[in-house]
Amino acid sequence: MTGSSSGLGASIVKYLAKAGASVAVHYHSEKTQAEAIAQEIINEGGNAKVFGGDVASLEAVQTLFAQIDRELGPIDILVNNAGIDGKRALCGHDNPADWEKVIGINLLGPYFCAREAIVRMEKKSRGVIINITSVHETIPWTGYTAYCAAKAGLSMFTKTLAQEVADKGIRVVAIGPGAIKTPINKDVWGNPETLKDLLDKIPMERMGETDEIAKAAVFLSSDLASYITGTSLFVDGGMLLYADFKHGG
Ligand code: NAD
Repeated sequence: MTGSSSGLGASIVKYLAKAGASVAVHYHSEKTQAEAIAQEIINEGGNAKVFGGDVASLEAVQTLFAQIDRELGPIDILVNNAGIDGKRALCGHDNPADWEKVIGINLLGPYFCAREAIVRMEKKSRGVIINITSVHETIPWTGYTAYCAAKAGLSMFTKTLAQEVADKGIRVVAIGPGAIKTPINKDVWGNPETLKDLLDKIPMERMGETDEIAKAAVFLSSDLASYITGTSLFVDGGMLLYADFKHGG
């Protein structure tokens, strides 16, 4: 479970633990927060261990999986959640290093983690990989070309990998969240004007809660979803329904 020190990841890891999974609470820089989340899981009778590492580094990811092997055993469920939206900038007026950073964390990271998970899951002929994409798999977002390219790329990675491993007992799916209240979008929900603009884009007229993503993750990682692979489940309050068309077209 990458990036579980905060936001969606913290909620997903708690729900997976409640459902009976032994969980790896993974962080990049927020060790104390990750430790607090692991402790909360343990206090409620679950099994959790804390691991650090930058998902954009192949070497760090290989080390991470070797540590998880030693402390929790080979992985059954991978949730590629770690991600950033990056700095808002128009193409040509941006910094290529910022673009590379977003692609590194949001696209290379899930690839590095998936390739480690696959070799372990193949040995057991079972496993589930969940990639956290976004409604920006499909909705363009001015100023965020890297984020949209990474999430659309992660969606196609999900489909292609699902096709590769479907006959090996491994399912690969994506969850595409809409606007969920977390630190990543605090600048939007923290300001009444930008919050109103956001809510106008959501037919359900509210932001999502992190547990609404976590419940989808528990479902998709369970046998209840045994025939679901290579697709994205959008959990977005209807954001992909083009809210403006509610009033005519
Ligand atoms: P968040 O900022 O609360 O959490 C991001 C997590 O990623 C943190 O745990 C952080 O430590 C981790 N992370 C960042 N850089 C990393 C790195 N280099 N290596 C390892 N971990 C790293 O944000 P969130 O809203 O919980 O976002 C989680 C995921 O959900 C992201 O992939 C994001 O794109 C996606 N998402 C969020 C929303 C939303 O509305 N919150 C909507 C669509 C998609």
